[in-house]
Amino acid sequence: MKILVSGAGVAGLACARELAVRGHDITVVERAPRLRVTGTPIDIRGDAIEAVERMGLLAEARRHRVRMSEAVRFVDAEGTPVARIPMSEVSDSDDDIELLRGDLVRLLAGALPAGVAIRFGDAIESLGNAGDDEGVDARLASGDTGRYDLVIGADGQHSAVRGLLFGPEEKHARHLGVYLALAALPDEPDAGGPNAIHNVPGRMAGVFRYGGGAVAVFQFRSESTDLDRRDLDGQKRALLDAFDGHRSWRIPELLEAARADPEFFLTPAAQIHLPAWHRGRAVLVGDAGHCAAYLSGRGTSLALTGARFLAEELERAGGDHTHAFPRYERRQRPYVDFAQDSVHGGRDRIVPATWADIAARDEALRAAGAGAP
Ligand SMILES: Cc1cc2nc3c(=O)[nH]c(=O)nc-3n(C[C@H](O)[C@H](O)[C@H](O)COP(=O)(O)OP(=O)(O)OC[C@H]3O[C@@H](n4cnc5c(N)ncnc54)[C@H](O)[C@@H]3O)c2cc1C
Repeated sequence: MKILVSGAGVAGLACARELAVRGHDITVVERAPRLRVTGTPIDIRGDAIEAVERMGLLAEARRHRVRMSEAVRFVDAEGTPVARIPMSEVSDSDDDIELLRGDLVRLLAGALPAGVAIRFGDAIESLGNAGDDEGVDARLASGDTGRYDLVIGADGQHSAVRGLLFGPEEKHARHLGVYLALAALPDEPDAGGPNAIHNVPGRMAGVFRYGGGAVAVFQFRSESTDLDRRDLDGQKRALLDAFDGHRSWRIPELLEAARADPEFFLTPAAQIHLPAWHRGRAVLVGDAGHCAAYLSGRGTSLALTGARFLAEELERAGGDHTHAFPRYERRQRPYVDFAQDSVHGGRDRIVPATWADIAARDEALRAAGAGAP
């Protein structure tokens, strides 16, 4: 079959590989001019490990393993560790693989069979139903058109394909009341040591080190949902406003780093909830269909299991999408429900709302014997 995949992130590349090795003719369109390899470390957990193993990439993924999360400590205003996160909350098992998002994206891209084309700097603009027997007519932003047997929307949290199939994002997004911001720390000495998180009520600031570099990490509670994704200055202002008046630990210098970073990144923790992930000959995989939010720590694993289940079900159904898509959804849905339900405890632990909540969190962690801070 001729299949068009929107997005060359984890979900899109994994789908492209899984379907190409089964003999399908795959075209990937990626809006960015090149592979997007930024991002903090992500986790491959549970059945996603098997998905990576079936792709023959497990040993390589393990070679890129980092151990960022297990080195996290909560610190007080002087930087003294006061508590740590239990390992049981950082990973499901010892087999979990934490690695840089960019390393995984490069691995998946490098594993694409010859003949899979990635068209960078292009995007699907419209999808016309050519009639269920005939395929889908896609028009790209570049002006190219083509008829495809199937279209896969793997274009992330703000998926354009989802918009074409199911309407605007606001209809399906659930804001979780907290924002994440990342800023590079180019001058941070690579001294190793713990990754620190410091809390003030409703806010956290931290320094995470991995891969020889360091990043400032912020989270803050906010119900607002009206930040413009393309307005970098406005996003920086939102962070500075959120921390206004807070000067403990390293907060002022970390905010300065955010102010100076041209690649500054801010995102709301938001989930996507859809009653179905397919319509006609088009189907959503990964964050496009069911973003669980970074707080779940499971978005990448969901992208990998989704790609695997979709490819397997298409194979089992002999390419009949009317059978394969619902089966893919049935297999994937329990993983998604679990991940989406898991976020609330994570938010309260990482960004407690009050001083009393911060103290209670630290006390509970110490009492649970999470190990010496
Ligand atoms: C640059 C970047 C950094 C990230 N950093 C983190 C992080 O630090 N921590 C974390 O937990 N998660 C992060 N994520 C999200 C994480 O990668 C996903 O939650 C998870 O891996 C699921 O992947 P996905 O392929 O569904 O979505 P994504 O990884 O978001 O990939 C979607 C891809 O689709 C492309 N795209 C978007 N719109 C279009 C369009 N209209 N047409 C064509 N292509 C399009 C994007 O450029 C991207 O390459 C990041 C995502 C990106 C894109």
